[in-house]
Amino acid sequence: MIMEPAINQLNLFSQILCPRPVKPLPVPTARAISFRSKYRKAYYLRHPEKLKEERKRRYLKYRERELARRQEHRKKARLKNPELERKKARDQYRSYFDRNVDKVRAYKRRYSKERRPFVKAWKIKIRDEFLKEYGGKCTCCGIAERSFLTLEHINHDGKKHRKDTWGNSTTLLLDLKKRGWPKDGFTIFCWNCNMATRFGQACPHKEEK
Ligand SMILES: [Zn+2]
Ligand SMILES: [Zn+2]
Repeated sequence: MIMEPAINQLNLFSQILCPRPVKPLPVPTARAISFRSKYRKAYYLRHPEKLKEERKRRYLKYRERELARRQEHRKKARLKNPELERKKARDQYRSYFDRNVDKVRAYKRRYSKERRPFVKAWKIKIRDEFLKEYGGKCTCCGIAERSFLTLEHINHDGKKHRKDTWGNSTTLLLDLKKRGWPKDGFTIFCWNCNMATRFGQACPHKEEK
């Protein structure tokens, strides 16, 4: 059996749907193209600064618009599917890291060294804010020594909280800050009281009374 070539069927359909023949755009001849590009090339070879200028002008003209468009697109995509976008970003970073391990490591080493004092100050600032928001002393025994104080999860869901916030003490506090320092379920305990109430027991301070 001989199959009709698909292209013939297509032509048939297009004739039914669109009876007026579509005229193709005039194609510039090869000679014209080569003449034009040769002329342009010669011109820019004679004036290299013009070429540079024109490129710069075109770049600047579209830069703002293009950046805004890209930003808008990413924003929309993030709103639509945050999980996917996060995964994409992570994969992209991962692939960049794999391709430039030494470069990234060197950069991180240098960067973290330079940033260390600032990060330290920033962490202290967050902790200060936290202590101020929650009264600045242990709500069990009243001790106010700064270095003893810790965040107490009243409902003993600290493990989950740590996991959800990529677990370190600063991310915990940052999460609270983001949520406007909720007082429900969180308070300050000193390390002793925190450890004593770890598995849901009452603090010895409470038992004495
Ligand atoms: Zn205490
Ligand atoms: Zn206590």
